[in-house]
Amino acid sequence: MTTNDSNPLLRPATTLPAFDEIRPEHVVPGIRALVKEVEGMLEALEREVNPHGASWDSLVDPIERMQDRLGFGFGIVDHLMSVRNSPPLREAYDEVEPEVVKLVTRIGQSQPIYRGLVALRAQASAGKDLDPAQRRVVDKLIQEAELSGVGLEGAARERFQQIRLELAELSTRFGNQLLDATKAFALDLTKSEDIEGLPASFLEMAAQAARAAGNETATAAAGPWRVTLDGPSYTGFMKHARRRDLRETLYRAHIRRASEGSLDNRPLVDAILRLRLEEAKLLGFETYADLSLSRKMAGTVASAEKLLEELLSASHGAAVRDLEEVRAFMIEHGAAADSAEIRHWDVPYWSERLREARYDYSEEQIRKFFPLPRVLDGLFALAKRVFAVEVTAADGEAPVWHPDVRFFKVRSLDGEEIAAFYLDPYSRPAEKKGGAWMNELVGRSRIFAPAGRKARLPVAYLICNGSPPVDGSPSLMTFREIETLFHEFGHTLQHMLTRVDLGLASGIRNVEWDAVELPSQFMENWCYHRDTLVGLSEHVETKTPLPDELFEKIRASRTFQAGLATLRQLNFGFLDLELHHRFVPGGPQTPFDVQRKVAARATVIPPIPEDRFLCAFSHIFQGGYAAGYYSYKWAEVLSADAFAAFEEAGLERTEAVAETGRRFRETVLALGGSESPMEVFKRFRGREPTTEALLRHSGLAY
Ligand SMILES: [Zn+2]
Repeated sequence: MTTNDSNPLLRPATTLPAFDEIRPEHVVPGIRALVKEVEGMLEALEREVNPHGASWDSLVDPIERMQDRLGFGFGIVDHLMSVRNSPPLREAYDEVEPEVVKLVTRIGQSQPIYRGLVALRAQASAGKDLDPAQRRVVDKLIQEAELSGVGLEGAARERFQQIRLELAELSTRFGNQLLDATKAFALDLTKSEDIEGLPASFLEMAAQAARAAGNETATAAAGPWRVTLDGPSYTGFMKHARRRDLRETLYRAHIRRASEGSLDNRPLVDAILRLRLEEAKLLGFETYADLSLSRKMAGTVASAEKLLEELLSASHGAAVRDLEEVRAFMIEHGAAADSAEIRHWDVPYWSERLREARYDYSEEQIRKFFPLPRVLDGLFALAKRVFAVEVTAADGEAPVWHPDVRFFKVRSLDGEEIAAFYLDPYSRPAEKKGGAWMNELVGRSRIFAPAGRKARLPVAYLICNGSPPVDGSPSLMTFREIETLFHEFGHTLQHMLTRVDLGLASGIRNVEWDAVELPSQFMENWCYHRDTLVGLSEHVETKTPLPDELFEKIRASRTFQAGLATLRQLNFGFLDLELHHRFVPGGPQTPFDVQRKVAARATVIPPIPEDRFLCAFSHIFQGGYAAGYYSYKWAEVLSADAFAAFEEAGLERTEAVAETGRRFRETVLALGGSESPMEVFKRFRGREPTTEALLRHSGLAY
């Protein structure tokens, strides 16, 4: 039994969560109590709001207080669902999630609050009270209220509420089924011919997985080895396993994940698309994509598709040439004549061989130079050089949810504390969601300022799924894992280095979806800068830095198969827009027909007939990227163009980098959602963005 007095989920957002105390049994009573408390706040605000003379302090501050109180407690549970998933936690989450969604919808649909906000905006138009940042917050709150159905009455309103609840449940179920389906498959290998080509580190990981599955005597040298659909295992195997039939088996299992039996996401895909369209129509939009784009920087489906088309015409020919190169290489290097047709499960393997032949290095060779602790030191040194902040380990100063999790503090160079973040670096397939992400625990905010301070300081979660340390040696990072870490650190920087004190516009809050990847993708560019990358390196055995010659190969390989890589993202981007814009749920076509239609333009090997990728497309069916996947490319244009400002200043010129970094920090990182993203970009760059730098970096410029 737990009482609310001792429930760690109910502690105020001024303390760090007691991850060492939180148990699944705290979730139901804790979240119920929070919901009740926030309902009380909502009712008080609705009673007191003056629709004719609302002020910022009496209306917007209380809105932030409600969002923060609920978001803090439920955010912790949400976070644990992603990093410490378990049946009891899931059960508790499923029980209370509808109540939270209902309350959030109720706040969003509150007529008294909406009328108060409209009145506040009208007063501000008369030139009173609000500064431009506050004005933007109010505009966005009004827009979000309208998109939350505030204008709906009677049956339409009820139906809208029901759709919201159903969608939340469906996307949670989509994710859980995907996780379970990923866990349910394993390829247990026992013979030495099964593992030909696999690097030693992979075999160690596979033996460890076999031991975790109960095969206690498994070793890297003698097996058995367990290969799974978890990210590092799947991609490692597809790149290195010489056995084509086993790659095919693994590919087919991966592409069919969560598409049959008791873990079938197909009905969920249908239901989600149908409900989203209905939701959009209730709000007066033609399609769900129109709804989604109305709150984004791109603004319209047409402008998002225009950018994708521009990139498609620059990359399709290159992708065809990329594939032809791989095919020629495969045939030349001994693929049997009867299997000379290149298939999906050949591409990663033969691409990796071609890369090794051309650039004469292997991913394995590179990894040895990048033990995680060393990479972190180098990353923090970069943050100091470019953004003038000091990152220091503060392990032990915050409870954590797993022994591998680290805690760091961020200070200005004169020692002032600015922010903190947790880092959860390794993959834990049994309980942790795949991929990498940044999430906020708390944001910078004036109204939660502790005594003697101007604002509450931001705290972030930085989550990666890197290869775990094996048998005592540190985690060795692939180049891709380093890029991912830089990417998520970019998000973390925007959350932490904000100078906005309005809680509803600080950090990444209030930033349009398609602009939010600017700082993250910007940071990836540094991985291709010699001094930076060499600064991250120290060979795990010889302790030597990455040699110049190896760096040059990495840099040259950046544009390797850029056509195929670009096309892959464009395919997802087009598919997502097509499903949410032109697809008719319940009509003659299925979502899988749409997938094939899009693939005909935006892939170079058509999907195999049993391809069920949509059942694992968690970005758009579980995460928030619905009718927004294009934003990766949209933001990449912004981020490449932003990095070009550093190139123009001279990457080797310390002072020029620091000066440009100061400008980047004062605009993109500091202003967050307090100004429109186009204005923020222009403040930094002095002009609107162009695709030139992205095409140049990708080797796709004419
Ligand atoms: Zn990102």
